[in-house]
Amino acid sequence: MMREQNYWLTTVAMPNVGRSRPLPETVDVAVIGAGFTGMSAARTLASRGARVAVLESQTIGWGASSRNGGMVLTGLKLGVNKLISLYGRDLARRMYAASLATIDCVERIVLEEGIDCDFTRSGHLEVACKQKHFDDYARQADVIAREFNHQLHIVQKNDLAGEIGSSIYFGGMVDEVSAGLNPAKYVAGLARAAAGAGAAIYENAQVQRIERSAHNGTKGWQVTTSLGTVWSRDVFVGTSGYTGEATPALRKKIVPIGSYIITTAVLAEALARELSPRCRMIYDSKNYLYYYRLTPDNRMLFGGRAAFFPETADTIRQSAEILRQGMIQVYPQLRDTEIEYVWGGTLDFAFDIMPHAGQLNGIYYALGYAGHGVAMATYQGQKMAERIAGGAPDNPFAEIPFPGAPLGLYNGNPWFLPLAGAWYRFLDWVS
Ligand SMILES: Cc1cc2nc3c(=O)[nH]c(=O)nc-3n(C[C@H](O)[C@H](O)[C@H](O)COP(=O)(O)OP(=O)(O)OC[C@H]3O[C@@H](n4cnc5c(N)ncnc54)[C@H](O)[C@@H]3O)c2cc1C
Repeated sequence: MMREQNYWLTTVAMPNVGRSRPLPETVDVAVIGAGFTGMSAARTLASRGARVAVLESQTIGWGASSRNGGMVLTGLKLGVNKLISLYGRDLARRMYAASLATIDCVERIVLEEGIDCDFTRSGHLEVACKQKHFDDYARQADVIAREFNHQLHIVQKNDLAGEIGSSIYFGGMVDEVSAGLNPAKYVAGLARAAAGAGAAIYENAQVQRIERSAHNGTKGWQVTTSLGTVWSRDVFVGTSGYTGEATPALRKKIVPIGSYIITTAVLAEALARELSPRCRMIYDSKNYLYYYRLTPDNRMLFGGRAAFFPETADTIRQSAEILRQGMIQVYPQLRDTEIEYVWGGTLDFAFDIMPHAGQLNGIYYALGYAGHGVAMATYQGQKMAERIAGGAPDNPFAEIPFPGAPLGLYNGNPWFLPLAGAWYRFLDWVS
């Protein structure tokens, strides 16, 4: 029977470190959001001696951090040629190098904190839906080798069976550096690590207002939450696709987009190996793309932007059938396999499809991960924590402008999403 429930959450007990208790009167840093960004920042800040309160409107990992595909991916959402043309060689090189460093960052934290989250360097495979997409892979791999000193390998259509048990694609491109993990176990482990370092985590603490306020002559912020108020010297926002009215300036710069996932029943070992012999993290070359992988217990996890709108009971239900049809196109072998779980989550897209980190109106933030956030969110949380603690870490994403909507035509209510969905489908048809 299919359950409208996040499969990953059935594999883990979230730590009991976020139970309601009175907020302290003052802290050094209020971190808003208990996902990868917030927990990674809290861990680093607390381990440097800062008094940290993590304020989460729901529960630990409630947002995208427990709901995602668990793909720990190199590279950025934006293509490499576009990256170079927009930012120039030097900055693009630093950005790409940072994208590789994000994977090491996750691996290091997993090892240092002993987080049991099935982290494996299984690599990722991008598969071409059209011949011209495949032809472009060789050009991309060339640019990445030449400009960024990083090797990808091209898989011809004839050799694809060693990578994927599907015959619909025109070839593939593999990056061995990417990894996979169980995101709910990972965010639970990050929360334990942050709490272990001394950060206090408050669940059911929705931040409602952030106002400038001095305390004993020190500049800072009065943070009003559903649990009461806390004064904080600095505020760091890691609310991703769930960014709301408490931070209106950030809300106007982020478009929340729904993404949905189904998982099958546990597959027989031989079938699982046939579908994905190397357990790669797989995604296709379309704008309206599918992403999929085996879970550590051999379910097929299959995701996509079946509906553009953020998750509701209706969009989740509709998505289950749309995704099942998509999965069967890729893998006819799964025609009779039961779907056991379906759920949705919200992605955060900036208008330039780049990650952003920095300070806006005095408030620190990191967001805009565009579906590439497992590694980047962890990394940005750490980098921004180092900066808040007084360091000057290298962070190329903190140097780029953070654009708003063209002509200012956006107040945080994404009225244009149905148009965007149609536009992406059109692009996939013609490109
Ligand atoms: C279905 C899906 C699949 C994905 N797959 C992948 C993948 O395979 N690989 C990948 O790299 N990325 C993937 N992503 C993206 C990735 O999950 C996110 O980029 C990442 O989890 C962002 O982490 P975060 O901590 O910034 O935000 P989140 O985990 O979304 O956390 C934000 C938190 O802020 C809280 N919050 C919001 N407003 C307030 C407030 N006012 N007061 C208090 N708390 C507040 C929310 O409750 C939420 O818990 C996927 C995302 C989705 C939705």
